[in-house]
Amino acid sequence: MKFFKAIFGASALFLILFLGPCISASAAGRLQPIDGNPVIVIDPGHGGENMGTQTGGIWDEKYMDMVTAQALYDELCLYDNVEVYLTRTTDIDVSFQERAAFAQSVNADFLFSIHYNASETHELFGSEVWVPLSAPFNNYGYQIGYELLTGMQERDLLIRGIKTRKGDRGEYYAIIRETVALDIPAAIIEHCHVDEDRDKGYCDSEEDLIQFGKDDATAIAKYLGLKSSILNVDYSDYQLVDISDSAPIASTLRDETAPDVCQITFLEADYDAGYLSFSVSAADYDSPLLYYTYSIDGGQTYSERKIWPGSDVLAGKYDDIFILNLAVPSGTKPSVIVRAYNMFDPYTESNRYDSPETFYYNEAQESEDPEANGDDVPSEEGGTGAEGSGEGTGASAAGDSESVAVSGSAVAAEKPVSFVTFLEICLVIVIFLFIILLISQGIAYHNRKKRRRQRRNDAGENRNQHR
Ligand SMILES: [Zn+2]
Repeated sequence: MKFFKAIFGASALFLILFLGPCISASAAGRLQPIDGNPVIVIDPGHGGENMGTQTGGIWDEKYMDMVTAQALYDELCLYDNVEVYLTRTTDIDVSFQERAAFAQSVNADFLFSIHYNASETHELFGSEVWVPLSAPFNNYGYQIGYELLTGMQERDLLIRGIKTRKGDRGEYYAIIRETVALDIPAAIIEHCHVDEDRDKGYCDSEEDLIQFGKDDATAIAKYLGLKSSILNVDYSDYQLVDISDSAPIASTLRDETAPDVCQITFLEADYDAGYLSFSVSAADYDSPLLYYTYSIDGGQTYSERKIWPGSDVLAGKYDDIFILNLAVPSGTKPSVIVRAYNMFDPYTESNRYDSPETFYYNEAQESEDPEANGDDVPSEEGGTGAEGSGEGTGASAAGDSESVAVSGSAVAAEKPVSFVTFLEICLVIVIFLFIILLISQGIAYHNRKKRRRQRRNDAGENRNQHR
């Protein structure tokens, strides 16, 4: 059995390591050549009549952008040998052409457009950086985007990626289109979503908005290799992410196709505690998985977005299998579907699991704290624990109806198996039978040879007796 586990472990490791896109995160120098003192233009988004998003932020977005942009400006000015400008310092609407023309007028090396995000459905959360499609600005954008987002990842924001978007006129985003047209690299920094609870905590005070500006400045200083005698920091030897791809970098290209596979496999039902347990396996061969949602009413309603376990879009990684424990309210006959979303938001729906029975149990007793009655809740025993999911453990204490265990291969081998695992088992059995066949053929050959030799010896003895 140990042999089988080793085979499963090795094949699971193979799947995790080699399926899905990978970006090497080794270090390298800056790709963008800069002569003399770098010139940075900071562009606070929107302004005047153009309010930006107005859905749930502490202020209209144009004010939030300005506070962060001003803090970024102030912080960058603390570094030696750098020129910094703002495209607007008051609440006025500036056209995209004017912003780009201003950058050109000061000989800018880079323009950073400062924004906060919101989604139509108010369910998205996380940070992203938009960069140009065209070479070599795409590569420059990737190197600075990586620094900006690594800083946000360290603060536990979900990273939605370094992305490009193509429109009818080339670049979809006007500020990138107009700036790149003047041969100046540009990037849009979408710090977080003002209309989603998990991101709100990062942007609901003036101090938060200033913090983003300071963090952006650190990332830009690292990118430019700046020094500051005031701050007593020196990034002149700082190594940036290595890019082996030529431009545009594949992981920045919008993935229009939905994830390739999403499958749920029923593991167990606990009708007394009101729990259902599944293994969820999914893959997207173009871009990493980022969120999942689930339905227990056959797809009529879905949960809020959850972070796909192990998702790290900067590293191009996600777990291709995890255990999902769902709380089922008493009196329901659940019909479960899971949706897997990639970092560009297309999703794939899993197969459906229809419970054969209705759940009836005493909710007052069972629903207090699912994690407390460890025997009732199928959990991550023997697995690699729930680290990496970012929620799972913490969220369920707050009465959340689901918990996640990131499955190691040991768990996968002991639970009912997915289709891929089934194929792996078949392969191992075929190899095993083949080896048995070889051995038995060898033994049979050996025996035949032995018998022939024996017969020859007997015949020889007979001849000797006759002589
Ligand atoms: Zn904006």
